[in-house]
Formats: sequence, structure tokens, C-alpha cells
Amino acid sequence: MRLDKYLAAALGIPRSESRRLAARGSVTVDGEVCKKADRQIDEKTAQICVDGRSLGGAYKEFVYIMLNKPEGVVSASRDARDTTVTDLVAEDFPRRQLFPAGRLDKTSTGFVLLTDDGALAHDILAPGRHVPKEYLVTLDTPLTPEMCAGFAAGVTLADGQTLAPAVAEPAPGGDPCRVHVVLRQGVYHQIKRMFGVFDVGVNGLHRSNIGGVELDPALAPGQYRELTGEELSRLR
Ligand code: URA
Repeated sequence: MRLDKYLAAALGIPRSESRRLAARGSVTVDGEVCKKADRQIDEKTAQICVDGRSLGGAYKEFVYIMLNKPEGVVSASRDARDTTVTDLVAEDFPRRQLFPAGRLDKTSTGFVLLTDDGALAHDILAPGRHVPKEYLVTLDTPLTPEMCAGFAAGVTLADGQTLAPAVAEPAPGGDPCRVHVVLRQGVYHQIKRMFGVFDVGVNGLHRSNIGGVELDPALAPGQYRELTGEELSRLR
């Protein structure tokens, strides 16, 4: 990779600034001053220092952020009116072109994965991969065996679209209106529309798990952290 690209990503600065840093002799590669911003380096092994400070480990090609989305925030990168999920993390990742890999409704809460890795996002969302997503849903009436069986067989929506089989089962805790739902598909307003077929309303919807990665219970609404390597490997 080019030295200026590495510096820009590692330091969160524009490439023009990394070229200036190199030109003024602030950058060393493996102990030698390097003024050539277009020099090819091996980002995995090269020892890069700026003004004597090592950037070892600072470079990341992509970031993967687990966010606990609060209610009222929209799952988009930009919005003229509402706060977006990327607005919530912008302070810590100012130079990254982040986007949500999968959406939650404005009224829904829970796990949103933010990344700038388009290939991983595409894989997670690919219909053929069937990555499971788990939700805790609060209904306006108790869950019935008919709903559970309907979800298992594949609900046919009001527009005639038949969905893939899904799981709806009583959530732990004994409240008959609280339901654990597992989907392997991503259709707009899917859970609300599925329960709508049974004339049941959804009062609350919280995503707790994506692809076997559990939303960290230490994250309060609006808080976020990067995925661990182990969590990331489960999504790959
Ligand atoms: N299904 C919905 O209806 N809403 C969500 O936010 C997620 C799944």
C-alpha cells in the first residue's frame, strides 16, 4: 500500500496532509526518513514512525462498530432532519465513511453494525447467506401458538409476499407479550408486518444479536465499541 494512504488511515488525516508530513521529513519507514509519499510499504510488517512516534498497530483498513441504537435515531449515514447512527460515532471516527450494515426502524433499539467494509456488509445482508438476526419484541397482545406456527411455516404478507420461515417463541421472563424472534431475511418493517398479519401490534422492538454476535450488555443506548477479533470472525 502507498505510504500516504497508510498515514491517512492510521492518523485519520487527509492524504494531502500525509504527503506534507512525508515531504517535511517527519516520517520514517523501518528507521529511514522517507519523503516519498508514493512509496509502497507492507502495512503488516513496516515500522512507521511520525516525529519519532511509532504508528505500530494504528493502521486499520476497516472498522467494525457495535452500536446500541437508541429510539429516535435513524439507520442512515446522513439525514437532513434526524440524528443518524453514524452521527453518534462521528466524533471517534471522523474520517471514516461509515454506514449501517442492515437497518433498524427509527422506533426500534439495539444492535446496529457500522462499518466501512462494503464487502462484509454485503455478505451480512446477502439474501443467500441467511445471517440470523435476533430480536426481543413486545406485542400489544399475548403471543399465541398460531403466531408461532405461522412464523415457522413462513408468513404471507398483505402484499402477497411469502417470507422465509422464522422463529417466534416466548421470551424468557414469563411476560406473555414478550417474544424472541429470529429472522434470516431482511424485508422492510418485517417484524411489524409479520405480526400485522395476525392483527397484532408491536410496541417495542430491540435487536440483540447479529450472526451469533450478542449486543454487549455493557453498552447503554447510544454507546458503542469496536468488535473484537473473535466477534468479527463469527461474521465472516
Ligand atoms: N422488523 C421491523 O419491523 N422493524 C425493525 O426495526 C427490524 C425488523
